[in-house]
Amino acid sequence: MQVYNPATGEVRGAVGMSTRADVDKAVAAAKAAFPAWSNMPPIKRARLMNRFLALVNEYRDELAKAITLEHGKVFNDAQGEVDRAIDVIEFSCGIPQLLKGEYTEQVSTGIDNWTMRQPLGVVAGITPFNFPVMVPAWMYPVAIAAGNTFVLKPSPTDPSASLLIADLMKKAGFPDGVFNVVQGDKESVDALLEHPDVTAVSFVGSTPIANYIYETGAHHGKRVQALGGAKNHLVVMPDADMDKTVDALMGAAFGSAGERCMAISVAVLVGEAADKIMPTLTERARNLRVGTGMDITNEMGPIVTAAARDRIRGYINKGIAEGAELLVDGREYAVPGFDNGFYMGATIFDHVKPEMVIYKEEIFGPVLACVRVDTFEQALKLINDHEFGNGVSCFTSDGAVAREFSRQVQVGMVGINVPIPVPMAWHGFGGWKKSLFGDMHAYGTEGVRFYTKQKSVMQRWSNTIDKGAEFSMPVAK
Ligand code: NAD
Repeated sequence: MQVYNPATGEVRGAVGMSTRADVDKAVAAAKAAFPAWSNMPPIKRARLMNRFLALVNEYRDELAKAITLEHGKVFNDAQGEVDRAIDVIEFSCGIPQLLKGEYTEQVSTGIDNWTMRQPLGVVAGITPFNFPVMVPAWMYPVAIAAGNTFVLKPSPTDPSASLLIADLMKKAGFPDGVFNVVQGDKESVDALLEHPDVTAVSFVGSTPIANYIYETGAHHGKRVQALGGAKNHLVVMPDADMDKTVDALMGAAFGSAGERCMAISVAVLVGEAADKIMPTLTERARNLRVGTGMDITNEMGPIVTAAARDRIRGYINKGIAEGAELLVDGREYAVPGFDNGFYMGATIFDHVKPEMVIYKEEIFGPVLACVRVDTFEQALKLINDHEFGNGVSCFTSDGAVAREFSRQVQVGMVGINVPIPVPMAWHGFGGWKKSLFGDMHAYGTEGVRFYTKQKSVMQRWSNTIDKGAEFSMPVAK
């Protein structure tokens, strides 16, 4: 498949699409590496992870450049993506502490009981185009530190970063087979889902594919966590600081061209908040600086592919046809000197209604839908009725409103005066409803649980063993 630089529209190279045979080779390498790797003391695995951490810090800008040249996001945004990956690698360096089991002495006379967590085996990660460094890092550092071996299948849209990561893993001294990359798309994903030696699959991507991965992986007996799409709301209460809220909305709706699963794509304007915020918001959106991601004076880079840009334009046309009021139109946007790049400007719709397609579906582009409601309760109901539940935010200066909002909202990740509340590495990432299939979030202690299975051991020694068979249910004595 051809790989583009979206800033120029030029083909940068081509990525090979792995076949089942390629996947078999990667899984066989991972399987062969598993016994020695899982047997290595966790502190030694952590030391290798520490070396890798140092290398990722050293190659931070090379990784960021690989992201910008294939994804398009602005270079300092790409650096931030690498930094969030580094957070999870740092977390994984603490694996000896994270793998500590639990112990109870004397559960019955002369008997002790403990639990330990052991790795699963070969695990796979399937990742989207929008965070080619950060999202894989939600998976492989935790999985590998916990003693598993890993096969990554990144998005074919921006494949280079994954190979740079593989080089750094090798340079850090991880044994061959511990970390593997297979490029490709559906064929390689299906091969991983059906492979008898793959024990667990982590997926991040769109909801229909997440659903498919969850069902197919479970059907083949695998543990699956599948994170899906989103439609994230930001509630603006009339008592919010409007200047700061405009800043927050601009960054959260248009940063990374809206191609973040935690991007804000709906502003819910409560009461008089609408009239207070709209004039500045629309003026700022009209003046958004769009251009190549390698120039960090730009606020927004291009859209990832021409096809994605066409899809987003299609949604804007649909919004107009549905009767939403188009206040800022980003469908056509020219960047001098970059005539073939996949650019768009910012788009803002006002008076969007819950039954409109542009409200219901994930657009995954720089399009902000503004919905007006009269009360806080209406805002909350609107969000809770939506099929997605990834991220949400409320801007207010009222602590009681903030508290009720966090308690009642049916969304997995909540921000109060924080527009993009991506949890830190030790807290775990995951949405609710159609934004996550499975029951464990990515990274953090939930990530450790996902990549390990619990074993309980009960032990006693012969001086406390009674003579004779016992036929009644054993109880504490
Ligand atoms: P996508 O679902 O098209 O692709 C994700 C992965 O699945 C890729 O590796 C791709 O090769 C593979 N894939 C695509 N079609 C497939 C098929 N038919 N069968 C098997 N595998 C297939 O997603 P994308 O366009 O790369 O990424 C954008 C989406 O990811 C958005 O919906 C966004 O919200 C979501 N996302 C979610 C999170 C989250 O944490 N919930 C984070 C980042 C991105």
